[in-house]
Amino acid sequence: MPETLMEDFGKTVVAWQRRHGRNSLPWQNTRDPYRVWLSEIMLQQTQVTTVLGYYERFLGRWPRVTDLAAATLDEVLAQWAGLGYYSRARNLYACAKAVAELHGGEFPGSAAQLQTLPGIGRSTAAAIAAFCFGERVAILDGNVKRVLSRVLAFDGDLASSAVEKRLWNHATELLPEEGVDRYTQGLMDLGATVCTARSPDCLICPVQPLCRGQAQGDPTRYPVKTRKLKRGRRENWWLWVERQGQVLLQQRPHTGVWAGLWTLPMFDDEASAHAALPDARLEPLPRIEHALTHFDWVLHTLRGDGSEGLTPGGTWVAREKLADYALPAPLKKLIEES
Ligand code: SF4
Repeated sequence: MPETLMEDFGKTVVAWQRRHGRNSLPWQNTRDPYRVWLSEIMLQQTQVTTVLGYYERFLGRWPRVTDLAAATLDEVLAQWAGLGYYSRARNLYACAKAVAELHGGEFPGSAAQLQTLPGIGRSTAAAIAAFCFGERVAILDGNVKRVLSRVLAFDGDLASSAVEKRLWNHATELLPEEGVDRYTQGLMDLGATVCTARSPDCLICPVQPLCRGQAQGDPTRYPVKTRKLKRGRRENWWLWVERQGQVLLQQRPHTGVWAGLWTLPMFDDEASAHAALPDARLEPLPRIEHALTHFDWVLHTLRGDGSEGLTPGGTWVAREKLADYALPAPLKKLIEES
């Protein structure tokens, strides 16, 4: 890597972040690892605008990591409901417990130690350590992979972990001597607001003079990643039964999709749903199409009143108490709109 690039890149990103980056998000301007960690986990695969409300509610309810550790997993899942990628919520809870029980309620003070905690990968550990402790360590989340692979015209296939390791090394070489916290935020901001996946705004980009991908003419060919997910399709039927203002819910198993969340009783086919409430007239509601990472899920809902002859078990929950339960986003929406 040319020395000028190494020298100029970090300084340029730091200077740009100071003037044009995001500096007033609720998890910024703090060195409290709990707040930074919470935001980092919520922001994985989720937009800032979506995270804002969840972040405030979590902190309002659990102001310290030890408060979160003292909650129950069901309470945490209920607060998380709608943010998606629920393994994050389970890891969040496990991590809070580990911090409370193994580290006396204080997050450890280095990226290497942070990485030993549940749900904290290398990049998240580095972000917390850079923001809270000023540690000079590199992050490499999806946004930063995109920015760096474009700047460096890095054409290795990131599906290979050996190749990804090379990019990690470059990310470390590019770290500035000073201002690592602002640099880290600057890279995140560049990836989120300027060097976006489909339409990088090179004209306003501060590192454009250093960017080899842009100089070649088509920066969107980076990053290179060949492995494609094979998407599947699933179809299920929900049975919405109501009795005296109460809805029948079932908790999903603690592994698999929507693990630990509460949904309406679910069936693999329409006939089984009808058989579960044989004497009722069931009204079909508009079908829901929900995209998950590995498959598209088509959910049909059949709604009936009364519970005569009802076979599935579960928990009857008063409608006004539904907010206390961790419901997946499509079910929340269905209930709100029906
Ligand atoms: Fe991305 Fe364009 Fe900036 Fe290069 S010049 S980092 S491609 S926005």
